[in-house]
Amino acid sequence: MSLQIEDLSAGYGRLEVLHGVSVNVEAGAIAAIVGANGAGKTTLLGAVSGLLRASAGSVRLGDRDVTRLGAESIAAAGLAHVPENRLVFPTLSLDDNLTLGAWTRRRQRGSKSELATRRAQVLAYFPRLADRLTQPAGTLSGGEQQMLAVGRGLMARPSVLILDEPSLGLAPLVIREIFAALGRLRTDEGLAILLVEQNVRAAFKVADHAYVMDRGRVLMEGEPSTLLADERVQQAYLGGGYVRVSAAETESDRPVRSPAVRVEGDEDRAHEGDRP
Ligand code: ATP
Repeated sequence: MSLQIEDLSAGYGRLEVLHGVSVNVEAGAIAAIVGANGAGKTTLLGAVSGLLRASAGSVRLGDRDVTRLGAESIAAAGLAHVPENRLVFPTLSLDDNLTLGAWTRRRQRGSKSELATRRAQVLAYFPRLADRLTQPAGTLSGGEQQMLAVGRGLMARPSVLILDEPSLGLAPLVIREIFAALGRLRTDEGLAILLVEQNVRAAFKVADHAYVMDRGRVLMEGEPSTLLADERVQQAYLGGGYVRVSAAETESDRPVRSPAVRVEGDEDRAHEGDRP
């Protein structure tokens, strides 16, 4: 099932943060969204999953328009949202956290044996979780918690998976493990995956299509390799420090402070989140 976001506007109260964003993810494809801090990436995921109400535009899952539905109905329609902060239930076991994931699509949850089958499939994507089923989720490492957060989303057998910065604070090896699993999910299950990331190189390595967001708009889109070769992307996200946006994007054509975006060379400094 595809995810089609068309001309979507949304915000908080009277503050509009997204100004007509269009993003498309086909079934069996990964799209990456990168952009400065505050560009509106998290807001976009919230508006897609129904946590925020869109003020204009539409969100479609396959043929179905879900723009006006609440988060629970959108989850039931086949979308899983893995938010940035890895919301695992810390005192519950890893296994119980997984089981809870299946409840977001009550009707499709199926029998106990179907649940067990799904659990085994999910654990096959993240084998290191299989040894820790009884461990309280709060005692897992950062990487394991991230894998659990993704795994819990997968328990409901979604068709569309959206993830907010799954690599945040994790060591390079763990990031590779998680992104490799996303690649397999795309192929094996035909998922449409929308990945918001600040780790541009890791995201672009796995993505089929990429978007650059800036101040609530899509600034550029294309093949990841094409965007990586673009001077503006290189300056903004791969070591430059400043990006000059076109006059059409801002009132004055002054350089805009670029974000603190982690790039490949920085990965070695990102170990602290994956403590044992
Ligand atoms: P980051 O990479 O830092 O997570 P982002 O691209 O995900 O940034 P958002 O978190 O979507 O950006 O924020 C976009 C804008 O919306 C920011 O200016 C932010 O201050 C504002 N914003 C976010 N959440 C709220 C909120 N609950 N109430 C009011 N404004 C908000």
